[in-house]
Amino acid sequence: MTSIAFIGLGNMGGGMAANLAKAGHDVRAFDLSADALDRAKAAGCLAAESAAAAVAGAEVVVTMLPAGKHVEAVYADAVLHVAAPATLLIDCSTIDVATARRVADAAAAKGLVAVDAPVSGGIAAANAGTLTFMVGGTQDAFDRARPILEAMGKAVIHAGGTGAGQAAKICNNMLLGATMVATCEAFALAEKLGLDLQRFYDISSVSSGQSWSMTSYCPVPGVGPETPADRGYQGGFAAPLMLKDLRLAMEAAASVDAQTPMGARAAELYEAFVAGDGAGLDFSGIIQTLR
Ligand code: NAD
Repeated sequence: MTSIAFIGLGNMGGGMAANLAKAGHDVRAFDLSADALDRAKAAGCLAAESAAAAVAGAEVVVTMLPAGKHVEAVYADAVLHVAAPATLLIDCSTIDVATARRVADAAAAKGLVAVDAPVSGGIAAANAGTLTFMVGGTQDAFDRARPILEAMGKAVIHAGGTGAGQAAKICNNMLLGATMVATCEAFALAEKLGLDLQRFYDISSVSSGQSWSMTSYCPVPGVGPETPADRGYQGGFAAPLMLKDLRLAMEAAASVDAQTPMGARAAELYEAFVAGDGAGLDFSGIIQTLR
């Protein structure tokens, strides 16, 4: 049993903290939301009065916060000056590579050990304990983080040094955003050309146009496996989160002078979708702007 501070009990963090408690760890949970804290308590976590109270005496600190500025603020206010030397810090939030490296450096300067460990898989995977973790940090830090992450996921992969987890995450999600838009376009064109969409799915899902966006997350209602399209594009992976990840990818691309024309176009299209009717919808709902 490990004593773990868990900060950020939202859509993702709530289920993740519950799975750590279920695995027998001593989880001291904190969130600014009283409702989120109550849910964590009901799931077997100990509700802490503040982030610093959760961190004091913990062997491991897990954060699952919205963006880089939240992680940096929580580290500065409640982690770096509170955690005992050699405490393992695991940030599972999706944040920019530069901030991930900055907070890891600040942690190392205090004698702490930090990894970035963003996840793939949505709220259902967080609840079920079937997330994929992509981890950036030293081999020793990865070896320490692995058993903790295994209690929350089905795959834990060492991506490389500090920041490599975030780099893998945004490259993956840029690819996902671009293939989803392309898949939606193909269905919209197929429809206008008079093709039956189930028939097109049957053909393309076993042909060279196949992708995860088509076969696991088909954006057309009633076609392929059950997806958010079958629930009016509710639930799933919210379009604003896809837009956030595409913006992170564009920032990272600019910082290293990488050419990402498809990612840039996907970012523009999600920008327009979120500004229009897409803010409350799953990211596959972008097909509605193309059909
Ligand atoms: P969320 O907004 O539901 O949860 C974030 C939680 O952090 C909230 O409960 C909020 O109250 C809390 N919080 C914010 N500032 C805080 C602070 N200073 N101290 C304590 N708590 C604080 O977000 P989420 O959907 O759980 O996503 C978390 C991260 O996971 C994001 O970086 C997101 O991009 C990433 N992610 C989300 C999904 C998804 O499907 N939702 C999938 C993969 C990755």
